[in-house]
Amino acid sequence: HDHLVIVGASLAGVHAAEGARREGFTGRITMIGAEVHPPYDRPPLSKEHLHGDEPKIVLLRELKHFSDSLDVDLRLGVEAIALDVSNRILTTTAGDISYGSLVIATGSAPIQLQTEGPTDRVVTVRTWDDAQRIAAALRDARHVVVIGGGLIGSEVAAAARRRGAEATLIVRETAPLARAFGQTIGEKMTRLHERHGVSVRLTTTVKALRASGDSALVDLADGSKLSADLVVLGIGSRPATAWLRDSGLRMGTDGSIVCDVTMQAASGVFAAGDVASWPNPSHGLLTREENWTNAMNQGERAGRNAVAEEPVPYVAVPYFWMDLYDHRFQFCGVADELHVEILSRDEEGDPDLVFFGDGAGQLVGVMGRDQGRLFSRVRRLVNQDGSYAAATAIVETLLSSAA
Ligand code: FAD
Repeated sequence: HDHLVIVGASLAGVHAAEGARREGFTGRITMIGAEVHPPYDRPPLSKEHLHGDEPKIVLLRELKHFSDSLDVDLRLGVEAIALDVSNRILTTTAGDISYGSLVIATGSAPIQLQTEGPTDRVVTVRTWDDAQRIAAALRDARHVVVIGGGLIGSEVAAAARRRGAEATLIVRETAPLARAFGQTIGEKMTRLHERHGVSVRLTTTVKALRASGDSALVDLADGSKLSADLVVLGIGSRPATAWLRDSGLRMGTDGSIVCDVTMQAASGVFAAGDVASWPNPSHGLLTREENWTNAMNQGERAGRNAVAEEPVPYVAVPYFWMDLYDHRFQFCGVADELHVEILSRDEEGDPDLVFFGDGAGQLVGVMGRDQGRLFSRVRRLVNQDGSYAAATAIVETLLSSAA
């Protein structure tokens, strides 16, 4: 246990280092990261960073925190390329490093679409470099095509509208965000986008993508063709595990590192964040979470477990937030469609609060729009397996006290 090595210098990696120190670990910690930038926050990349010409990077911690408070040897611009689990050796672009325990926090990488021609007008959103490029392109883009109706695609389409560009959102599913929030809420999201001038194209996919020097052409499966100054891909991401090909670690069908309940993948090897899957004890199913809160909590737990005498299981209830058109949406649990109840206080019928029930009186998920305090109250019920009636009662009490 004398040397803890962390691969991936981002959210899960930083929290792993802090977790190990909080656990009382006094040995050496080395953290390596492929990017040259100090660890920074990703959610702003598809939000406020795109709202003006010159975004400012949001660092997770001041650089001196790593050396002074954490006593971490942070090596940036260094990539892990292979892992020898039996001899506990990590091979990197800057040489071999031997470890007592290892935390893998290499996150995920965006899925690309094959593009004919130069690719500078077809971009994904994962890194600070990506965000700078898109923010600059939005300065004079007239038409932006966003492919993918998930969280990132929705946020980028909204940002394009904010910057005055026309925006078309290509969605494979029957509604944007339907995978996260279910069909009922997805339809409301379609309406929301359309009210802000986004052209939403549902149940269609991209057949071909061609780019020339000054524009890109998108051929859709329904036969239509779109021309754009910028194409942004938000079609999902895959765990960054290609470098572990020969490691012998068990990989899931999605390419994630399969861990046990304590986030351990092999003797002395732990994983956390977007790259890891584990049998979440809250339901027992092998899951991979791709959100900020999980990367933080799971990173902390993996870091602690990597140096602890007695590893502790990691339990999570999915939670994430998203910003769209000056609204903050928060979601927790599962968007079970068996019972959906929408509380709306505006003329458009946009949901302020949504309860998802399992049809048997149990609250399994909740979504809120600009409902900070109310949302946290109901969220606690989802975390505690609360009944539907208890949630409704809380809301009624709060609404009547506000009136
Ligand atoms: P990452 O943040 O992906 O970091 C992994 C790091 O490892 C990267 O720096 C990478 O370069 C490095 N790396 C990869 N391979 C190697 C290697 N072989 N050697 C060395 N280093 C390597 N979540 C929310 O809950 N709400 C949001 O609103 C939200 N918005 C988002 C918007 C965008 C644009 C993106 C991209 C993500 C968003 N997320 C959001 C998700 C959240 O940011 C991620 O879940 C989180 O960053 C995962 O953290 P991580 O540390 O596991 O991985």
